[in-house]
Amino acid sequence: MTIRTATALIDFKALDNNYRVTKSYAPNSKVLAVLKANAYGHGLELIAQALPQADAFGVARIDEAIALRHAGIKQPIVLLEGFFSSDELTLLSEYNLDTVIHNIEQLNALASANIKSLISVWLKIDTGMHRLGIAPDDVSSFTQILKRSKNVKRGIVFMSHLGCADDINNPSTTLQLQLFKQLTTSENKCSLANSAAICAWPDTHFDWVRPGLMLYGVSPMLAPNKAYKALQPVMTLKSGIISIRKIAKGNSVGYGAAWTSNKATYIAVIAIGYGDGYPRHAENGTPVYINGRIVSLVGRVSMDMITVDLGEQLIDKVGDEATLWGVNLPVEEVAKYATTIPYELLCNISRRVKISLINN
Ligand SMILES: *Cc1c(COP(=O)(O)O)cnc(C)c1O
Repeated sequence: MTIRTATALIDFKALDNNYRVTKSYAPNSKVLAVLKANAYGHGLELIAQALPQADAFGVARIDEAIALRHAGIKQPIVLLEGFFSSDELTLLSEYNLDTVIHNIEQLNALASANIKSLISVWLKIDTGMHRLGIAPDDVSSFTQILKRSKNVKRGIVFMSHLGCADDINNPSTTLQLQLFKQLTTSENKCSLANSAAICAWPDTHFDWVRPGLMLYGVSPMLAPNKAYKALQPVMTLKSGIISIRKIAKGNSVGYGAAWTSNKATYIAVIAIGYGDGYPRHAENGTPVYINGRIVSLVGRVSMDMITVDLGEQLIDKVGDEATLWGVNLPVEEVAKYATTIPYELLCNISRRVKISLINN
């Protein structure tokens, strides 16, 4: 296969490897695989179907959960932010979806709903991130109401989310963990760890871990750690060279003449741009992998094209493939040059990008 336009290769063997790496970090925990934002850009149904070994899935929107049921997914599916309006409770019951409860509005709506089947609840507690979750003081009253409700299945899962687990030197993870332990008992199932906590904070694993990024083969830690070596990128984003020209010293390239060459050199145009989800703010010098080496992005990213400096010796030709990230070029590296995080690059992949499956 020759790649001519923006194509995301999705490697199922890498996904399987990353699942096993996750289990090796947290062997005694069940795995809720996080598939929000179209499975971080990798394809929602595709990734769910490739993970029959996952104990449950987590999504952020009810439409994603329903799409998974329509795709034949049988595992529990948890709405990580719960339902947004009480009308959705009928759908939760109809599609057998589990919900997070993180505020009083959701609690009241669930308790007073008229639904046919019982719903499983993950009670989210704010242990210090101060985004979602009920206050520590409200845990016992919420728990009482949920336990008495005719609509709630037995066995509430207590959960919280960590704000700084990617930084091993940040003391707030330990504080959040201590508070979480004080508020929960071994009577109930507990869940705290995202990818970073799975890799770096073993005391946070509890009954359920919730990996997202690491399943896709990207290291969740700020500083390089051993997860870098064990994880394999699931997505490799490629496209083809559509033009090569020689420019003279002092010539500028692209919109705004934002880059000027200080030498005579060869410039390649690659068929990918911000219309595909390649970051428009990628700086001059952003790495691109072509024919066994790293070359530099030069000039502004256009909607459908980028330009790279191939150097003074021409070894490449029109039609050759370029890798924008993935195998041979970690998305973590590219994210740094675009002043963003790998999460954003992955989930911004646009519909125009072809998906091509390997090792499936
Ligand atoms: C997104 C999310 C995760 C997964 O986070 P990663 O950093 O991608 O592992 C886990 N738990 C919750 C509640 C989330 O929203």
